[in-house]
Amino acid sequence: MAGLRLEAVSKRFGGTSAVDEVSLDIADGEFLVLLGPSGCGKSTLLRMIAGLEEPSSGRILLDGNDITDAPAQRRDLAMVFQSYALYPHLTVAQNIAFPLRARRRRRAWIRERVAEVAATLQLDELLGRRPAALSGGQRQRVALARAMVRDPGAFLMDEPLSNLDAKLRSATRAELIALHRRLGATFLYVTHDQVEAMTMATRIALLNAGRVEQVGAPEELYDRPRSVFVAGFLGSPPMNLFPAVARERDGELRVIADGIDTALGIFASEDDPDTDEQPVVAGVRPEHLLLDADATDIRGTVTMVENLGSEELVHFSIGELSLCARVARPAGVAVGAQIGARVAPDRIHLFDPESGLRLR
Ligand code: ATP
Repeated sequence: MAGLRLEAVSKRFGGTSAVDEVSLDIADGEFLVLLGPSGCGKSTLLRMIAGLEEPSSGRILLDGNDITDAPAQRRDLAMVFQSYALYPHLTVAQNIAFPLRARRRRRAWIRERVAEVAATLQLDELLGRRPAALSGGQRQRVALARAMVRDPGAFLMDEPLSNLDAKLRSATRAELIALHRRLGATFLYVTHDQVEAMTMATRIALLNAGRVEQVGAPEELYDRPRSVFVAGFLGSPPMNLFPAVARERDGELRVIADGIDTALGIFASEDDPDTDEQPVVAGVRPEHLLLDADATDIRGTVTMVENLGSEELVHFSIGELSLCARVARPAGVAVGAQIGARVAPDRIHLFDPESGLRLR
Protein backbone atom coordinates (compact mmCIF):
# COMPACT_ATOMS: atom_id res chain seq x y z
CA MET A 1 0.00 0.00 0.00
CA ALA A 2 1.19 3.45 -0.76
CA GLY A 3 0.74 7.17 -0.45
CA LEU A 4 0.29 9.52 -3.38
CA ARG A 5 1.76 12.95 -3.93
CA LEU A 6 0.65 15.51 -6.49
CA GLU A 7 3.05 18.37 -7.19
CA ALA A 8 1.54 21.36 -9.03
CA VAL A 9 -0.33 19.11 -11.45
CA SER A 10 -2.06 20.99 -14.27
CA LYS A 11 -4.05 19.98 -17.32
CA ARG A 12 -5.04 22.28 -20.17
CA PHE A 13 -7.32 21.28 -23.00
CA GLY A 14 -6.57 23.86 -25.69
CA GLY A 15 -7.52 27.16 -24.07
CA THR A 16 -9.31 25.71 -21.02
CA SER A 17 -7.52 24.96 -17.81
CA ALA A 18 -9.23 21.84 -16.40
CA VAL A 19 -6.79 21.31 -13.50
CA ASP A 20 -4.69 24.21 -12.24
CA GLU A 21 -1.54 23.54 -10.18
CA VAL A 22 -3.04 21.03 -7.79
CA SER A 23 -0.68 19.93 -5.01
CA LEU A 24 -1.90 17.30 -2.62
CA ASP A 25 -0.45 14.67 -0.30
CA ILE A 26 -2.57 11.58 0.16
CA ALA A 27 -1.28 9.48 3.02
CA ASP A 28 -0.98 5.72 2.91
CA GLY A 29 -4.32 4.22 3.96
CA GLU A 30 -6.25 7.45 3.64
CA PHE A 31 -9.76 7.73 2.16
CA LEU A 32 -9.49 11.02 0.31
CA VAL A 33 -12.53 12.32 -1.54
CA LEU A 34 -12.13 14.75 -4.44
CA LEU A 35 -15.33 16.76 -4.24
CA GLY A 36 -16.66 19.60 -6.34
CA PRO A 37 -19.29 20.79 -8.78
CA SER A 38 -19.60 19.45 -12.30
CA GLY A 39 -16.69 20.50 -14.49
CA CYS A 40 -14.32 21.45 -11.64
CA GLY A 41 -11.69 18.95 -12.86
CA LYS A 42 -12.14 16.00 -10.48
CA SER A 43 -12.28 13.31 -13.15
CA THR A 44 -9.42 14.82 -15.12
CA LEU A 45 -7.26 14.82 -11.99
CA LEU A 46 -8.11 11.18 -11.23
CA ARG A 47 -7.49 10.17 -14.85
CA MET A 48 -4.04 11.78 -14.74
CA ILE A 49 -3.21 9.80 -11.61
CA ALA A 50 -4.47 6.63 -13.29
CA GLY A 51 -2.33 7.35 -16.37
CA LEU A 52 -5.31 7.75 -18.70
CA GLU A 53 -4.56 11.42 -19.27
CA GLU A 54 -1.21 13.15 -19.52
CA PRO A 55 -0.57 16.19 -17.28
CA SER A 56 0.39 19.44 -19.05
CA SER A 57 2.78 20.07 -16.16
CA GLY A 58 3.54 18.88 -12.65
CA ARG A 59 4.56 15.56 -11.09
CA ILE A 60 2.73 12.56 -9.67
CA LEU A 61 4.49 10.33 -7.15
CA LEU A 62 3.34 6.96 -5.83
CA ASP A 63 5.15 5.79 -2.73
CA GLY A 64 7.94 8.26 -3.51
CA ASN A 65 8.40 7.09 -7.12
CA ASP A 66 7.74 9.48 -9.97
CA ILE A 67 5.00 7.86 -12.10
CA THR A 68 4.09 10.97 -14.11
CA ASP A 69 5.16 9.34 -17.38
CA ALA A 70 4.59 5.68 -16.50
CA PRO A 71 2.05 3.84 -18.67
CA ALA A 72 -1.30 3.13 -16.96
CA GLN A 73 -0.77 -0.64 -16.71
CA ARG A 74 2.59 -0.12 -14.99
CA ARG A 75 1.10 1.98 -12.20
CA ASP A 76 0.26 0.02 -9.12
CA LEU A 77 -3.26 1.48 -9.07
CA ALA A 78 -6.74 0.12 -9.72
CA MET A 79 -9.52 2.23 -11.16
CA VAL A 80 -13.25 1.69 -10.58
CA PHE A 81 -15.47 3.58 -13.01
CA GLN A 82 -19.03 4.83 -12.73
CA SER A 83 -20.02 2.52 -15.59
CA TYR A 84 -18.26 -0.48 -13.93
CA ALA A 85 -16.89 -1.42 -17.38
CA LEU A 86 -17.51 -5.16 -16.90
CA TYR A 87 -17.09 -7.57 -19.84
CA PRO A 88 -20.64 -8.71 -20.69
CA HIS A 89 -19.61 -12.03 -22.25
CA LEU A 90 -17.52 -13.10 -19.24
CA THR A 91 -18.83 -14.57 -15.98
CA VAL A 92 -18.35 -12.80 -12.67
CA ALA A 93 -15.41 -15.10 -11.88
CA GLN A 94 -13.80 -14.40 -15.27
CA ASN A 95 -14.36 -10.68 -14.89
CA ILE A 96 -12.68 -10.67 -11.49
CA ALA A 97 -9.82 -12.85 -12.76
CA PHE A 98 -9.21 -10.69 -15.82
CA PRO A 99 -6.43 -8.45 -14.44
CA LEU A 100 -4.58 -11.56 -13.19
CA ARG A 101 -4.93 -13.44 -16.51
CA ALA A 102 -3.48 -10.42 -18.25
CA ARG A 103 -0.51 -10.77 -15.89
CA ARG A 104 -0.09 -14.47 -16.70
CA ARG A 105 -0.52 -15.82 -13.19
CA ARG A 106 -0.89 -19.56 -12.52
CA ARG A 107 -4.45 -20.91 -12.87
CA ALA A 108 -4.69 -22.46 -9.42
CA TRP A 109 -3.35 -19.30 -7.83
CA ILE A 110 -5.87 -17.19 -9.77
CA ARG A 111 -8.76 -19.44 -8.72
CA GLU A 112 -7.79 -19.13 -5.09
CA ARG A 113 -7.35 -15.37 -5.24
CA VAL A 114 -10.71 -14.87 -7.01
CA ALA A 115 -12.45 -16.97 -4.34
CA GLU A 116 -10.80 -14.96 -1.60
CA VAL A 117 -11.86 -11.60 -3.03
CA ALA A 118 -15.36 -12.88 -3.89
CA ALA A 119 -15.79 -13.96 -0.27
CA THR A 120 -14.73 -10.52 0.99
CA LEU A 121 -17.38 -8.85 -1.15
CA GLN A 122 -20.03 -11.58 -0.73
CA LEU A 123 -20.02 -12.55 -4.37
CA ASP A 124 -19.41 -16.30 -3.83
CA GLU A 125 -22.91 -17.26 -4.97
CA LEU A 126 -22.71 -15.17 -8.13
CA LEU A 127 -19.40 -16.30 -9.63
CA GLY A 128 -21.02 -18.22 -12.51
CA ARG A 129 -23.37 -15.45 -13.61
CA ARG A 130 -22.87 -12.90 -16.35
CA PRO A 131 -23.15 -9.13 -15.63
CA ALA A 132 -26.56 -8.88 -17.34
CA ALA A 133 -27.99 -11.15 -14.63
CA LEU A 134 -26.80 -8.94 -11.77
CA SER A 135 -28.34 -5.97 -9.96
CA GLY A 136 -26.64 -2.57 -10.06
CA GLY A 137 -25.22 -3.07 -6.58
CA GLN A 138 -23.88 -6.52 -7.44
CA ARG A 139 -22.22 -5.20 -10.62
CA GLN A 140 -20.65 -2.47 -8.55
CA ARG A 141 -19.23 -5.10 -6.18
CA VAL A 142 -17.84 -7.11 -9.10
CA ALA A 143 -16.10 -4.00 -10.39
CA LEU A 144 -14.63 -3.48 -6.93
CA ALA A 145 -13.58 -7.13 -6.73
CA ARG A 146 -11.80 -6.82 -10.07
CA ALA A 147 -9.96 -3.77 -8.73
CA MET A 148 -9.08 -5.55 -5.46
CA VAL A 149 -7.90 -8.81 -6.96
CA ARG A 150 -4.39 -7.67 -7.74
CA ASP A 151 -3.92 -5.92 -4.42
CA PRO A 152 -3.05 -2.50 -5.85
CA GLY A 153 -1.16 0.27 -4.07
CA ALA A 154 -4.22 2.50 -4.21
CA PHE A 155 -7.82 2.47 -5.44
CA LEU A 156 -9.06 5.23 -7.70
CA MET A 157 -12.84 5.52 -7.93
CA ASP A 158 -14.83 7.82 -10.18
CA GLU A 159 -18.41 8.23 -8.94
CA PRO A 160 -18.83 4.46 -8.51
CA LEU A 161 -22.21 4.79 -6.77
CA SER A 162 -23.96 7.18 -9.11
CA ASN A 163 -25.85 4.45 -10.99
CA LEU A 164 -27.41 3.05 -7.82
CA ASP A 165 -30.76 4.03 -6.34
CA ALA A 166 -30.81 6.01 -3.09
CA LYS A 167 -31.27 3.04 -0.76
CA LEU A 168 -28.60 0.89 -2.37
CA ARG A 169 -26.27 3.85 -2.53
CA SER A 170 -26.50 4.34 1.19
CA ALA A 171 -25.93 0.61 1.86
CA THR A 172 -22.95 0.57 -0.51
CA ARG A 173 -21.47 3.64 1.18
CA ALA A 174 -21.41 1.68 4.41
CA GLU A 175 -19.82 -1.30 2.60
CA LEU A 176 -17.10 0.89 1.14
CA ILE A 177 -16.29 2.35 4.55
CA ALA A 178 -16.02 -1.17 5.98
CA LEU A 179 -13.93 -2.33 3.02
CA HIS A 180 -11.56 0.58 3.40
CA ARG A 181 -11.13 -0.22 7.08
CA ARG A 182 -10.56 -3.90 6.37
CA LEU A 183 -8.06 -3.42 3.54
CA GLY A 184 -6.29 -0.45 5.09
CA ALA A 185 -5.70 0.67 1.50
CA THR A 186 -5.41 4.17 0.04
CA PHE A 187 -8.71 5.24 -1.53
CA LEU A 188 -9.01 8.22 -3.83
CA TYR A 189 -12.63 8.81 -4.61
CA VAL A 190 -14.28 11.30 -6.96
CA THR A 191 -17.81 12.53 -6.38
CA HIS A 192 -19.99 15.61 -6.61
CA ASP A 193 -22.21 14.20 -3.85
CA GLN A 194 -21.48 15.92 -0.55
CA VAL A 195 -23.20 13.18 1.47
CA GLU A 196 -20.79 10.59 0.06
CA ALA A 197 -17.90 12.89 0.84
CA MET A 198 -19.02 13.73 4.37
CA THR A 199 -19.78 10.11 5.33
CA MET A 200 -16.83 8.27 3.78
CA ALA A 201 -13.84 10.59 3.61
CA THR A 202 -11.07 10.77 6.15
CA ARG A 203 -10.26 14.01 4.29
CA ILE A 204 -12.00 15.96 1.58
CA ALA A 205 -10.27 18.02 -1.12
CA LEU A 206 -12.88 20.45 -2.42
CA LEU A 207 -12.13 21.61 -5.96
CA ASN A 208 -13.40 24.74 -7.64
CA ALA A 209 -12.58 25.57 -11.25
CA GLY A 210 -9.53 23.29 -11.33
CA ARG A 211 -8.07 24.48 -8.04
CA VAL A 212 -8.10 23.08 -4.53
CA GLU A 213 -10.34 25.33 -2.46
CA GLN A 214 -9.84 23.55 0.88
CA VAL A 215 -8.45 20.22 2.12
CA GLY A 216 -9.33 18.79 5.51
CA ALA A 217 -11.45 16.46 7.59
CA PRO A 218 -15.17 16.64 6.68
CA GLU A 219 -16.04 18.37 9.98
CA GLU A 220 -13.29 20.92 9.40
CA LEU A 221 -14.72 21.95 6.03
CA TYR A 222 -18.24 22.01 7.42
CA ASP A 223 -17.49 23.87 10.65
CA ARG A 224 -14.77 26.24 9.46
CA PRO A 225 -15.12 26.74 5.71
CA ARG A 226 -12.14 28.63 4.31
CA SER A 227 -14.19 30.57 1.79
CA VAL A 228 -17.70 31.51 0.71
CA PHE A 229 -17.43 28.80 -1.95
CA VAL A 230 -16.80 26.03 0.60
CA ALA A 231 -19.46 27.45 2.92
CA GLY A 232 -22.04 27.44 0.16
CA PHE A 233 -21.10 24.06 -1.32
CA LEU A 234 -21.27 21.89 1.81
CA GLY A 235 -24.57 21.63 3.64
CA SER A 236 -28.13 20.97 2.54
CA PRO A 237 -29.99 23.25 2.56
CA PRO A 238 -26.95 25.48 2.11
CA MET A 239 -25.63 28.01 4.58
CA ASN A 240 -27.52 31.33 4.64
CA LEU A 241 -25.08 33.87 3.21
CA PHE A 242 -25.90 37.55 3.18
CA PRO A 243 -24.17 40.93 2.90
CA ALA A 244 -23.75 42.67 6.25
CA VAL A 245 -21.41 44.93 8.17
CA ALA A 246 -19.42 43.94 11.22
CA ARG A 247 -19.49 46.88 13.61
CA GLU A 248 -17.88 47.43 16.95
CA ARG A 249 -20.16 48.78 19.64
CA ASP A 250 -19.25 49.02 23.33
CA GLY A 251 -16.35 46.64 22.93
CA GLU A 252 -18.61 44.12 21.26
CA LEU A 253 -18.62 43.12 17.62
CA ARG A 254 -22.05 42.94 16.00
CA VAL A 255 -23.26 41.73 12.62
CA ILE A 256 -25.72 44.16 11.17
CA ALA A 257 -27.90 43.87 8.10
CA ASP A 258 -31.45 44.97 7.35
CA GLY A 259 -33.54 43.41 10.14
CA ILE A 260 -30.51 41.72 11.68
CA ASP A 261 -28.48 42.97 14.62
CA THR A 262 -26.74 40.19 16.42
CA ALA A 263 -23.77 40.11 18.72
CA LEU A 264 -20.62 38.19 17.87
CA GLY A 265 -19.22 38.48 21.36
CA ILE A 266 -16.19 40.31 22.66
CA PHE A 267 -12.85 39.89 20.96
CA ALA A 268 -9.27 40.46 21.75
CA SER A 269 -8.12 43.32 19.55
CA GLU A 270 -6.02 41.13 17.24
CA ASP A 271 -9.17 39.20 16.28
CA ASP A 272 -11.06 42.34 15.34
CA PRO A 273 -11.45 43.31 11.72
CA ASP A 274 -9.15 46.22 10.84
CA THR A 275 -11.77 48.93 10.92
CA ASP A 276 -14.62 49.77 13.27
CA GLU A 277 -17.08 48.98 10.55
CA GLN A 278 -16.32 46.48 7.89
CA PRO A 279 -18.45 45.13 5.06
CA VAL A 280 -18.64 41.33 5.26
CA VAL A 281 -20.49 38.36 3.90
CA ALA A 282 -22.10 36.76 6.94
CA GLY A 283 -23.00 33.07 7.03
CA VAL A 284 -25.30 31.06 9.29
CA ARG A 285 -26.25 27.42 8.77
CA PRO A 286 -30.01 26.71 8.78
CA GLU A 287 -29.65 24.45 11.84
CA HIS A 288 -28.02 27.29 13.79
CA LEU A 289 -30.90 29.74 13.36
CA LEU A 290 -32.96 29.24 16.50
CA LEU A 291 -36.57 30.38 16.27
CA ASP A 292 -37.63 32.25 19.34
CA ALA A 293 -40.78 34.38 19.42
CA ASP A 294 -39.15 36.86 21.82
CA ALA A 295 -35.82 37.20 20.03
CA THR A 296 -35.03 40.67 18.78
CA ASP A 297 -31.72 39.84 17.05
CA ILE A 298 -33.40 38.77 13.85
CA ARG A 299 -37.02 39.54 12.92
CA GLY A 300 -38.78 38.38 9.76
CA THR A 301 -41.94 37.14 8.07
CA VAL A 302 -42.49 33.44 7.33
CA THR A 303 -42.79 32.82 3.58
CA MET A 304 -42.82 29.01 3.39
CA VAL A 305 -42.66 25.96 5.66
CA GLU A 306 -41.29 22.70 4.19
CA ASN A 307 -41.95 19.43 5.97
CA LEU A 308 -38.97 17.04 5.80
CA GLY A 309 -40.59 14.40 8.03
CA SER A 310 -38.43 14.66 11.11
CA GLU A 311 -37.75 18.37 10.69
CA GLU A 312 -39.13 21.46 9.05
CA LEU A 313 -37.47 24.12 6.97
CA VAL A 314 -38.87 27.52 7.86
CA HIS A 315 -38.16 30.13 5.19
CA PHE A 316 -38.59 33.73 6.23
CA SER A 317 -37.86 37.08 4.68
CA ILE A 318 -36.41 40.26 6.06
CA GLY A 319 -36.96 42.86 3.39
CA GLU A 320 -35.05 41.63 0.34
CA LEU A 321 -33.21 39.01 2.33
CA SER A 322 -34.44 35.42 2.51
CA LEU A 323 -33.26 33.06 5.29
CA CYS A 324 -33.89 29.41 6.04
CA ALA A 325 -34.03 27.78 9.49
CA ARG A 326 -34.02 24.02 10.04
CA VAL A 327 -36.03 23.20 13.15
CA ALA A 328 -37.59 20.22 14.91
CA ARG A 329 -41.13 19.38 13.81
CA PRO A 330 -43.60 20.88 14.35
CA ALA A 331 -42.14 24.38 14.28
CA GLY A 332 -45.57 25.77 15.10
CA VAL A 333 -45.29 28.74 12.74
CA ALA A 334 -47.51 29.59 9.78
CA VAL A 335 -46.89 31.46 6.55
CA GLY A 336 -47.32 35.19 7.13
CA ALA A 337 -46.39 35.04 10.82
CA GLN A 338 -43.80 37.42 12.28
CA ILE A 339 -40.99 35.44 13.86
CA GLY A 340 -37.84 36.11 15.78
CA ALA A 341 -34.60 34.16 15.60
CA ARG A 342 -31.27 34.00 17.39
CA VAL A 343 -27.84 32.65 16.52
CA ALA A 344 -25.14 31.65 18.96
CA PRO A 345 -22.24 34.06 18.29
CA ASP A 346 -19.78 31.27 17.54
CA ARG A 347 -22.11 29.99 14.81
CA ILE A 348 -21.74 33.09 12.67
CA HIS A 349 -19.17 32.91 9.88
CA LEU A 350 -17.70 36.05 8.38
CA PHE A 351 -16.11 36.28 4.95
CA ASP A 352 -14.37 39.03 3.01
CA PRO A 353 -16.74 40.25 0.27
CA GLU A 354 -13.81 40.86 -2.13
CA SER A 355 -11.72 37.70 -1.79
CA GLY A 356 -14.46 35.42 -0.42
CA LEU A 357 -12.00 34.23 2.23
CA ARG A 358 -12.89 33.60 5.84
CA LEU A 359 -12.35 36.46 8.30
CA ARG A 360 -13.48 34.57 11.38
P1 ATP B 1 -18.24 15.98 -13.69
O1 ATP B 1 -18.60 15.88 -12.23
O2 ATP B 1 -19.30 16.66 -14.49
O3 ATP B 1 -17.75 14.71 -14.29
P2 ATP B 1 -15.51 16.92 -13.31
O4 ATP B 1 -15.31 17.77 -12.12
O5 ATP B 1 -15.10 15.51 -13.23
O6 ATP B 1 -17.02 17.04 -13.78
P3 ATP B 1 -13.81 17.07 -15.61
O7 ATP B 1 -14.52 15.98 -16.35
O8 ATP B 1 -12.51 16.75 -15.01
O9 ATP B 1 -14.76 17.67 -14.48
O10 ATP B 1 -13.66 18.31 -16.58
C1 ATP B 1 -13.00 19.52 -16.19
C2 ATP B 1 -13.04 20.51 -17.35
O11 ATP B 1 -12.23 20.05 -18.43
C3 ATP B 1 -14.41 20.73 -17.92
O12 ATP B 1 -14.55 22.09 -18.26
C4 ATP B 1 -14.43 19.86 -19.15
O13 ATP B 1 -15.32 20.37 -20.12
C5 ATP B 1 -13.00 19.91 -19.61
N1 ATP B 1 -12.58 18.68 -20.29
C6 ATP B 1 -12.51 17.45 -19.75
N2 ATP B 1 -12.05 16.54 -20.65
C7 ATP B 1 -11.81 17.23 -21.79
C8 ATP B 1 -11.31 16.88 -23.09
N3 ATP B 1 -10.96 15.63 -23.37
N4 ATP B 1 -11.22 17.86 -24.01
C9 ATP B 1 -11.55 19.13 -23.71
N5 ATP B 1 -12.01 19.54 -22.52
C10 ATP B 1 -12.15 18.60 -21.56
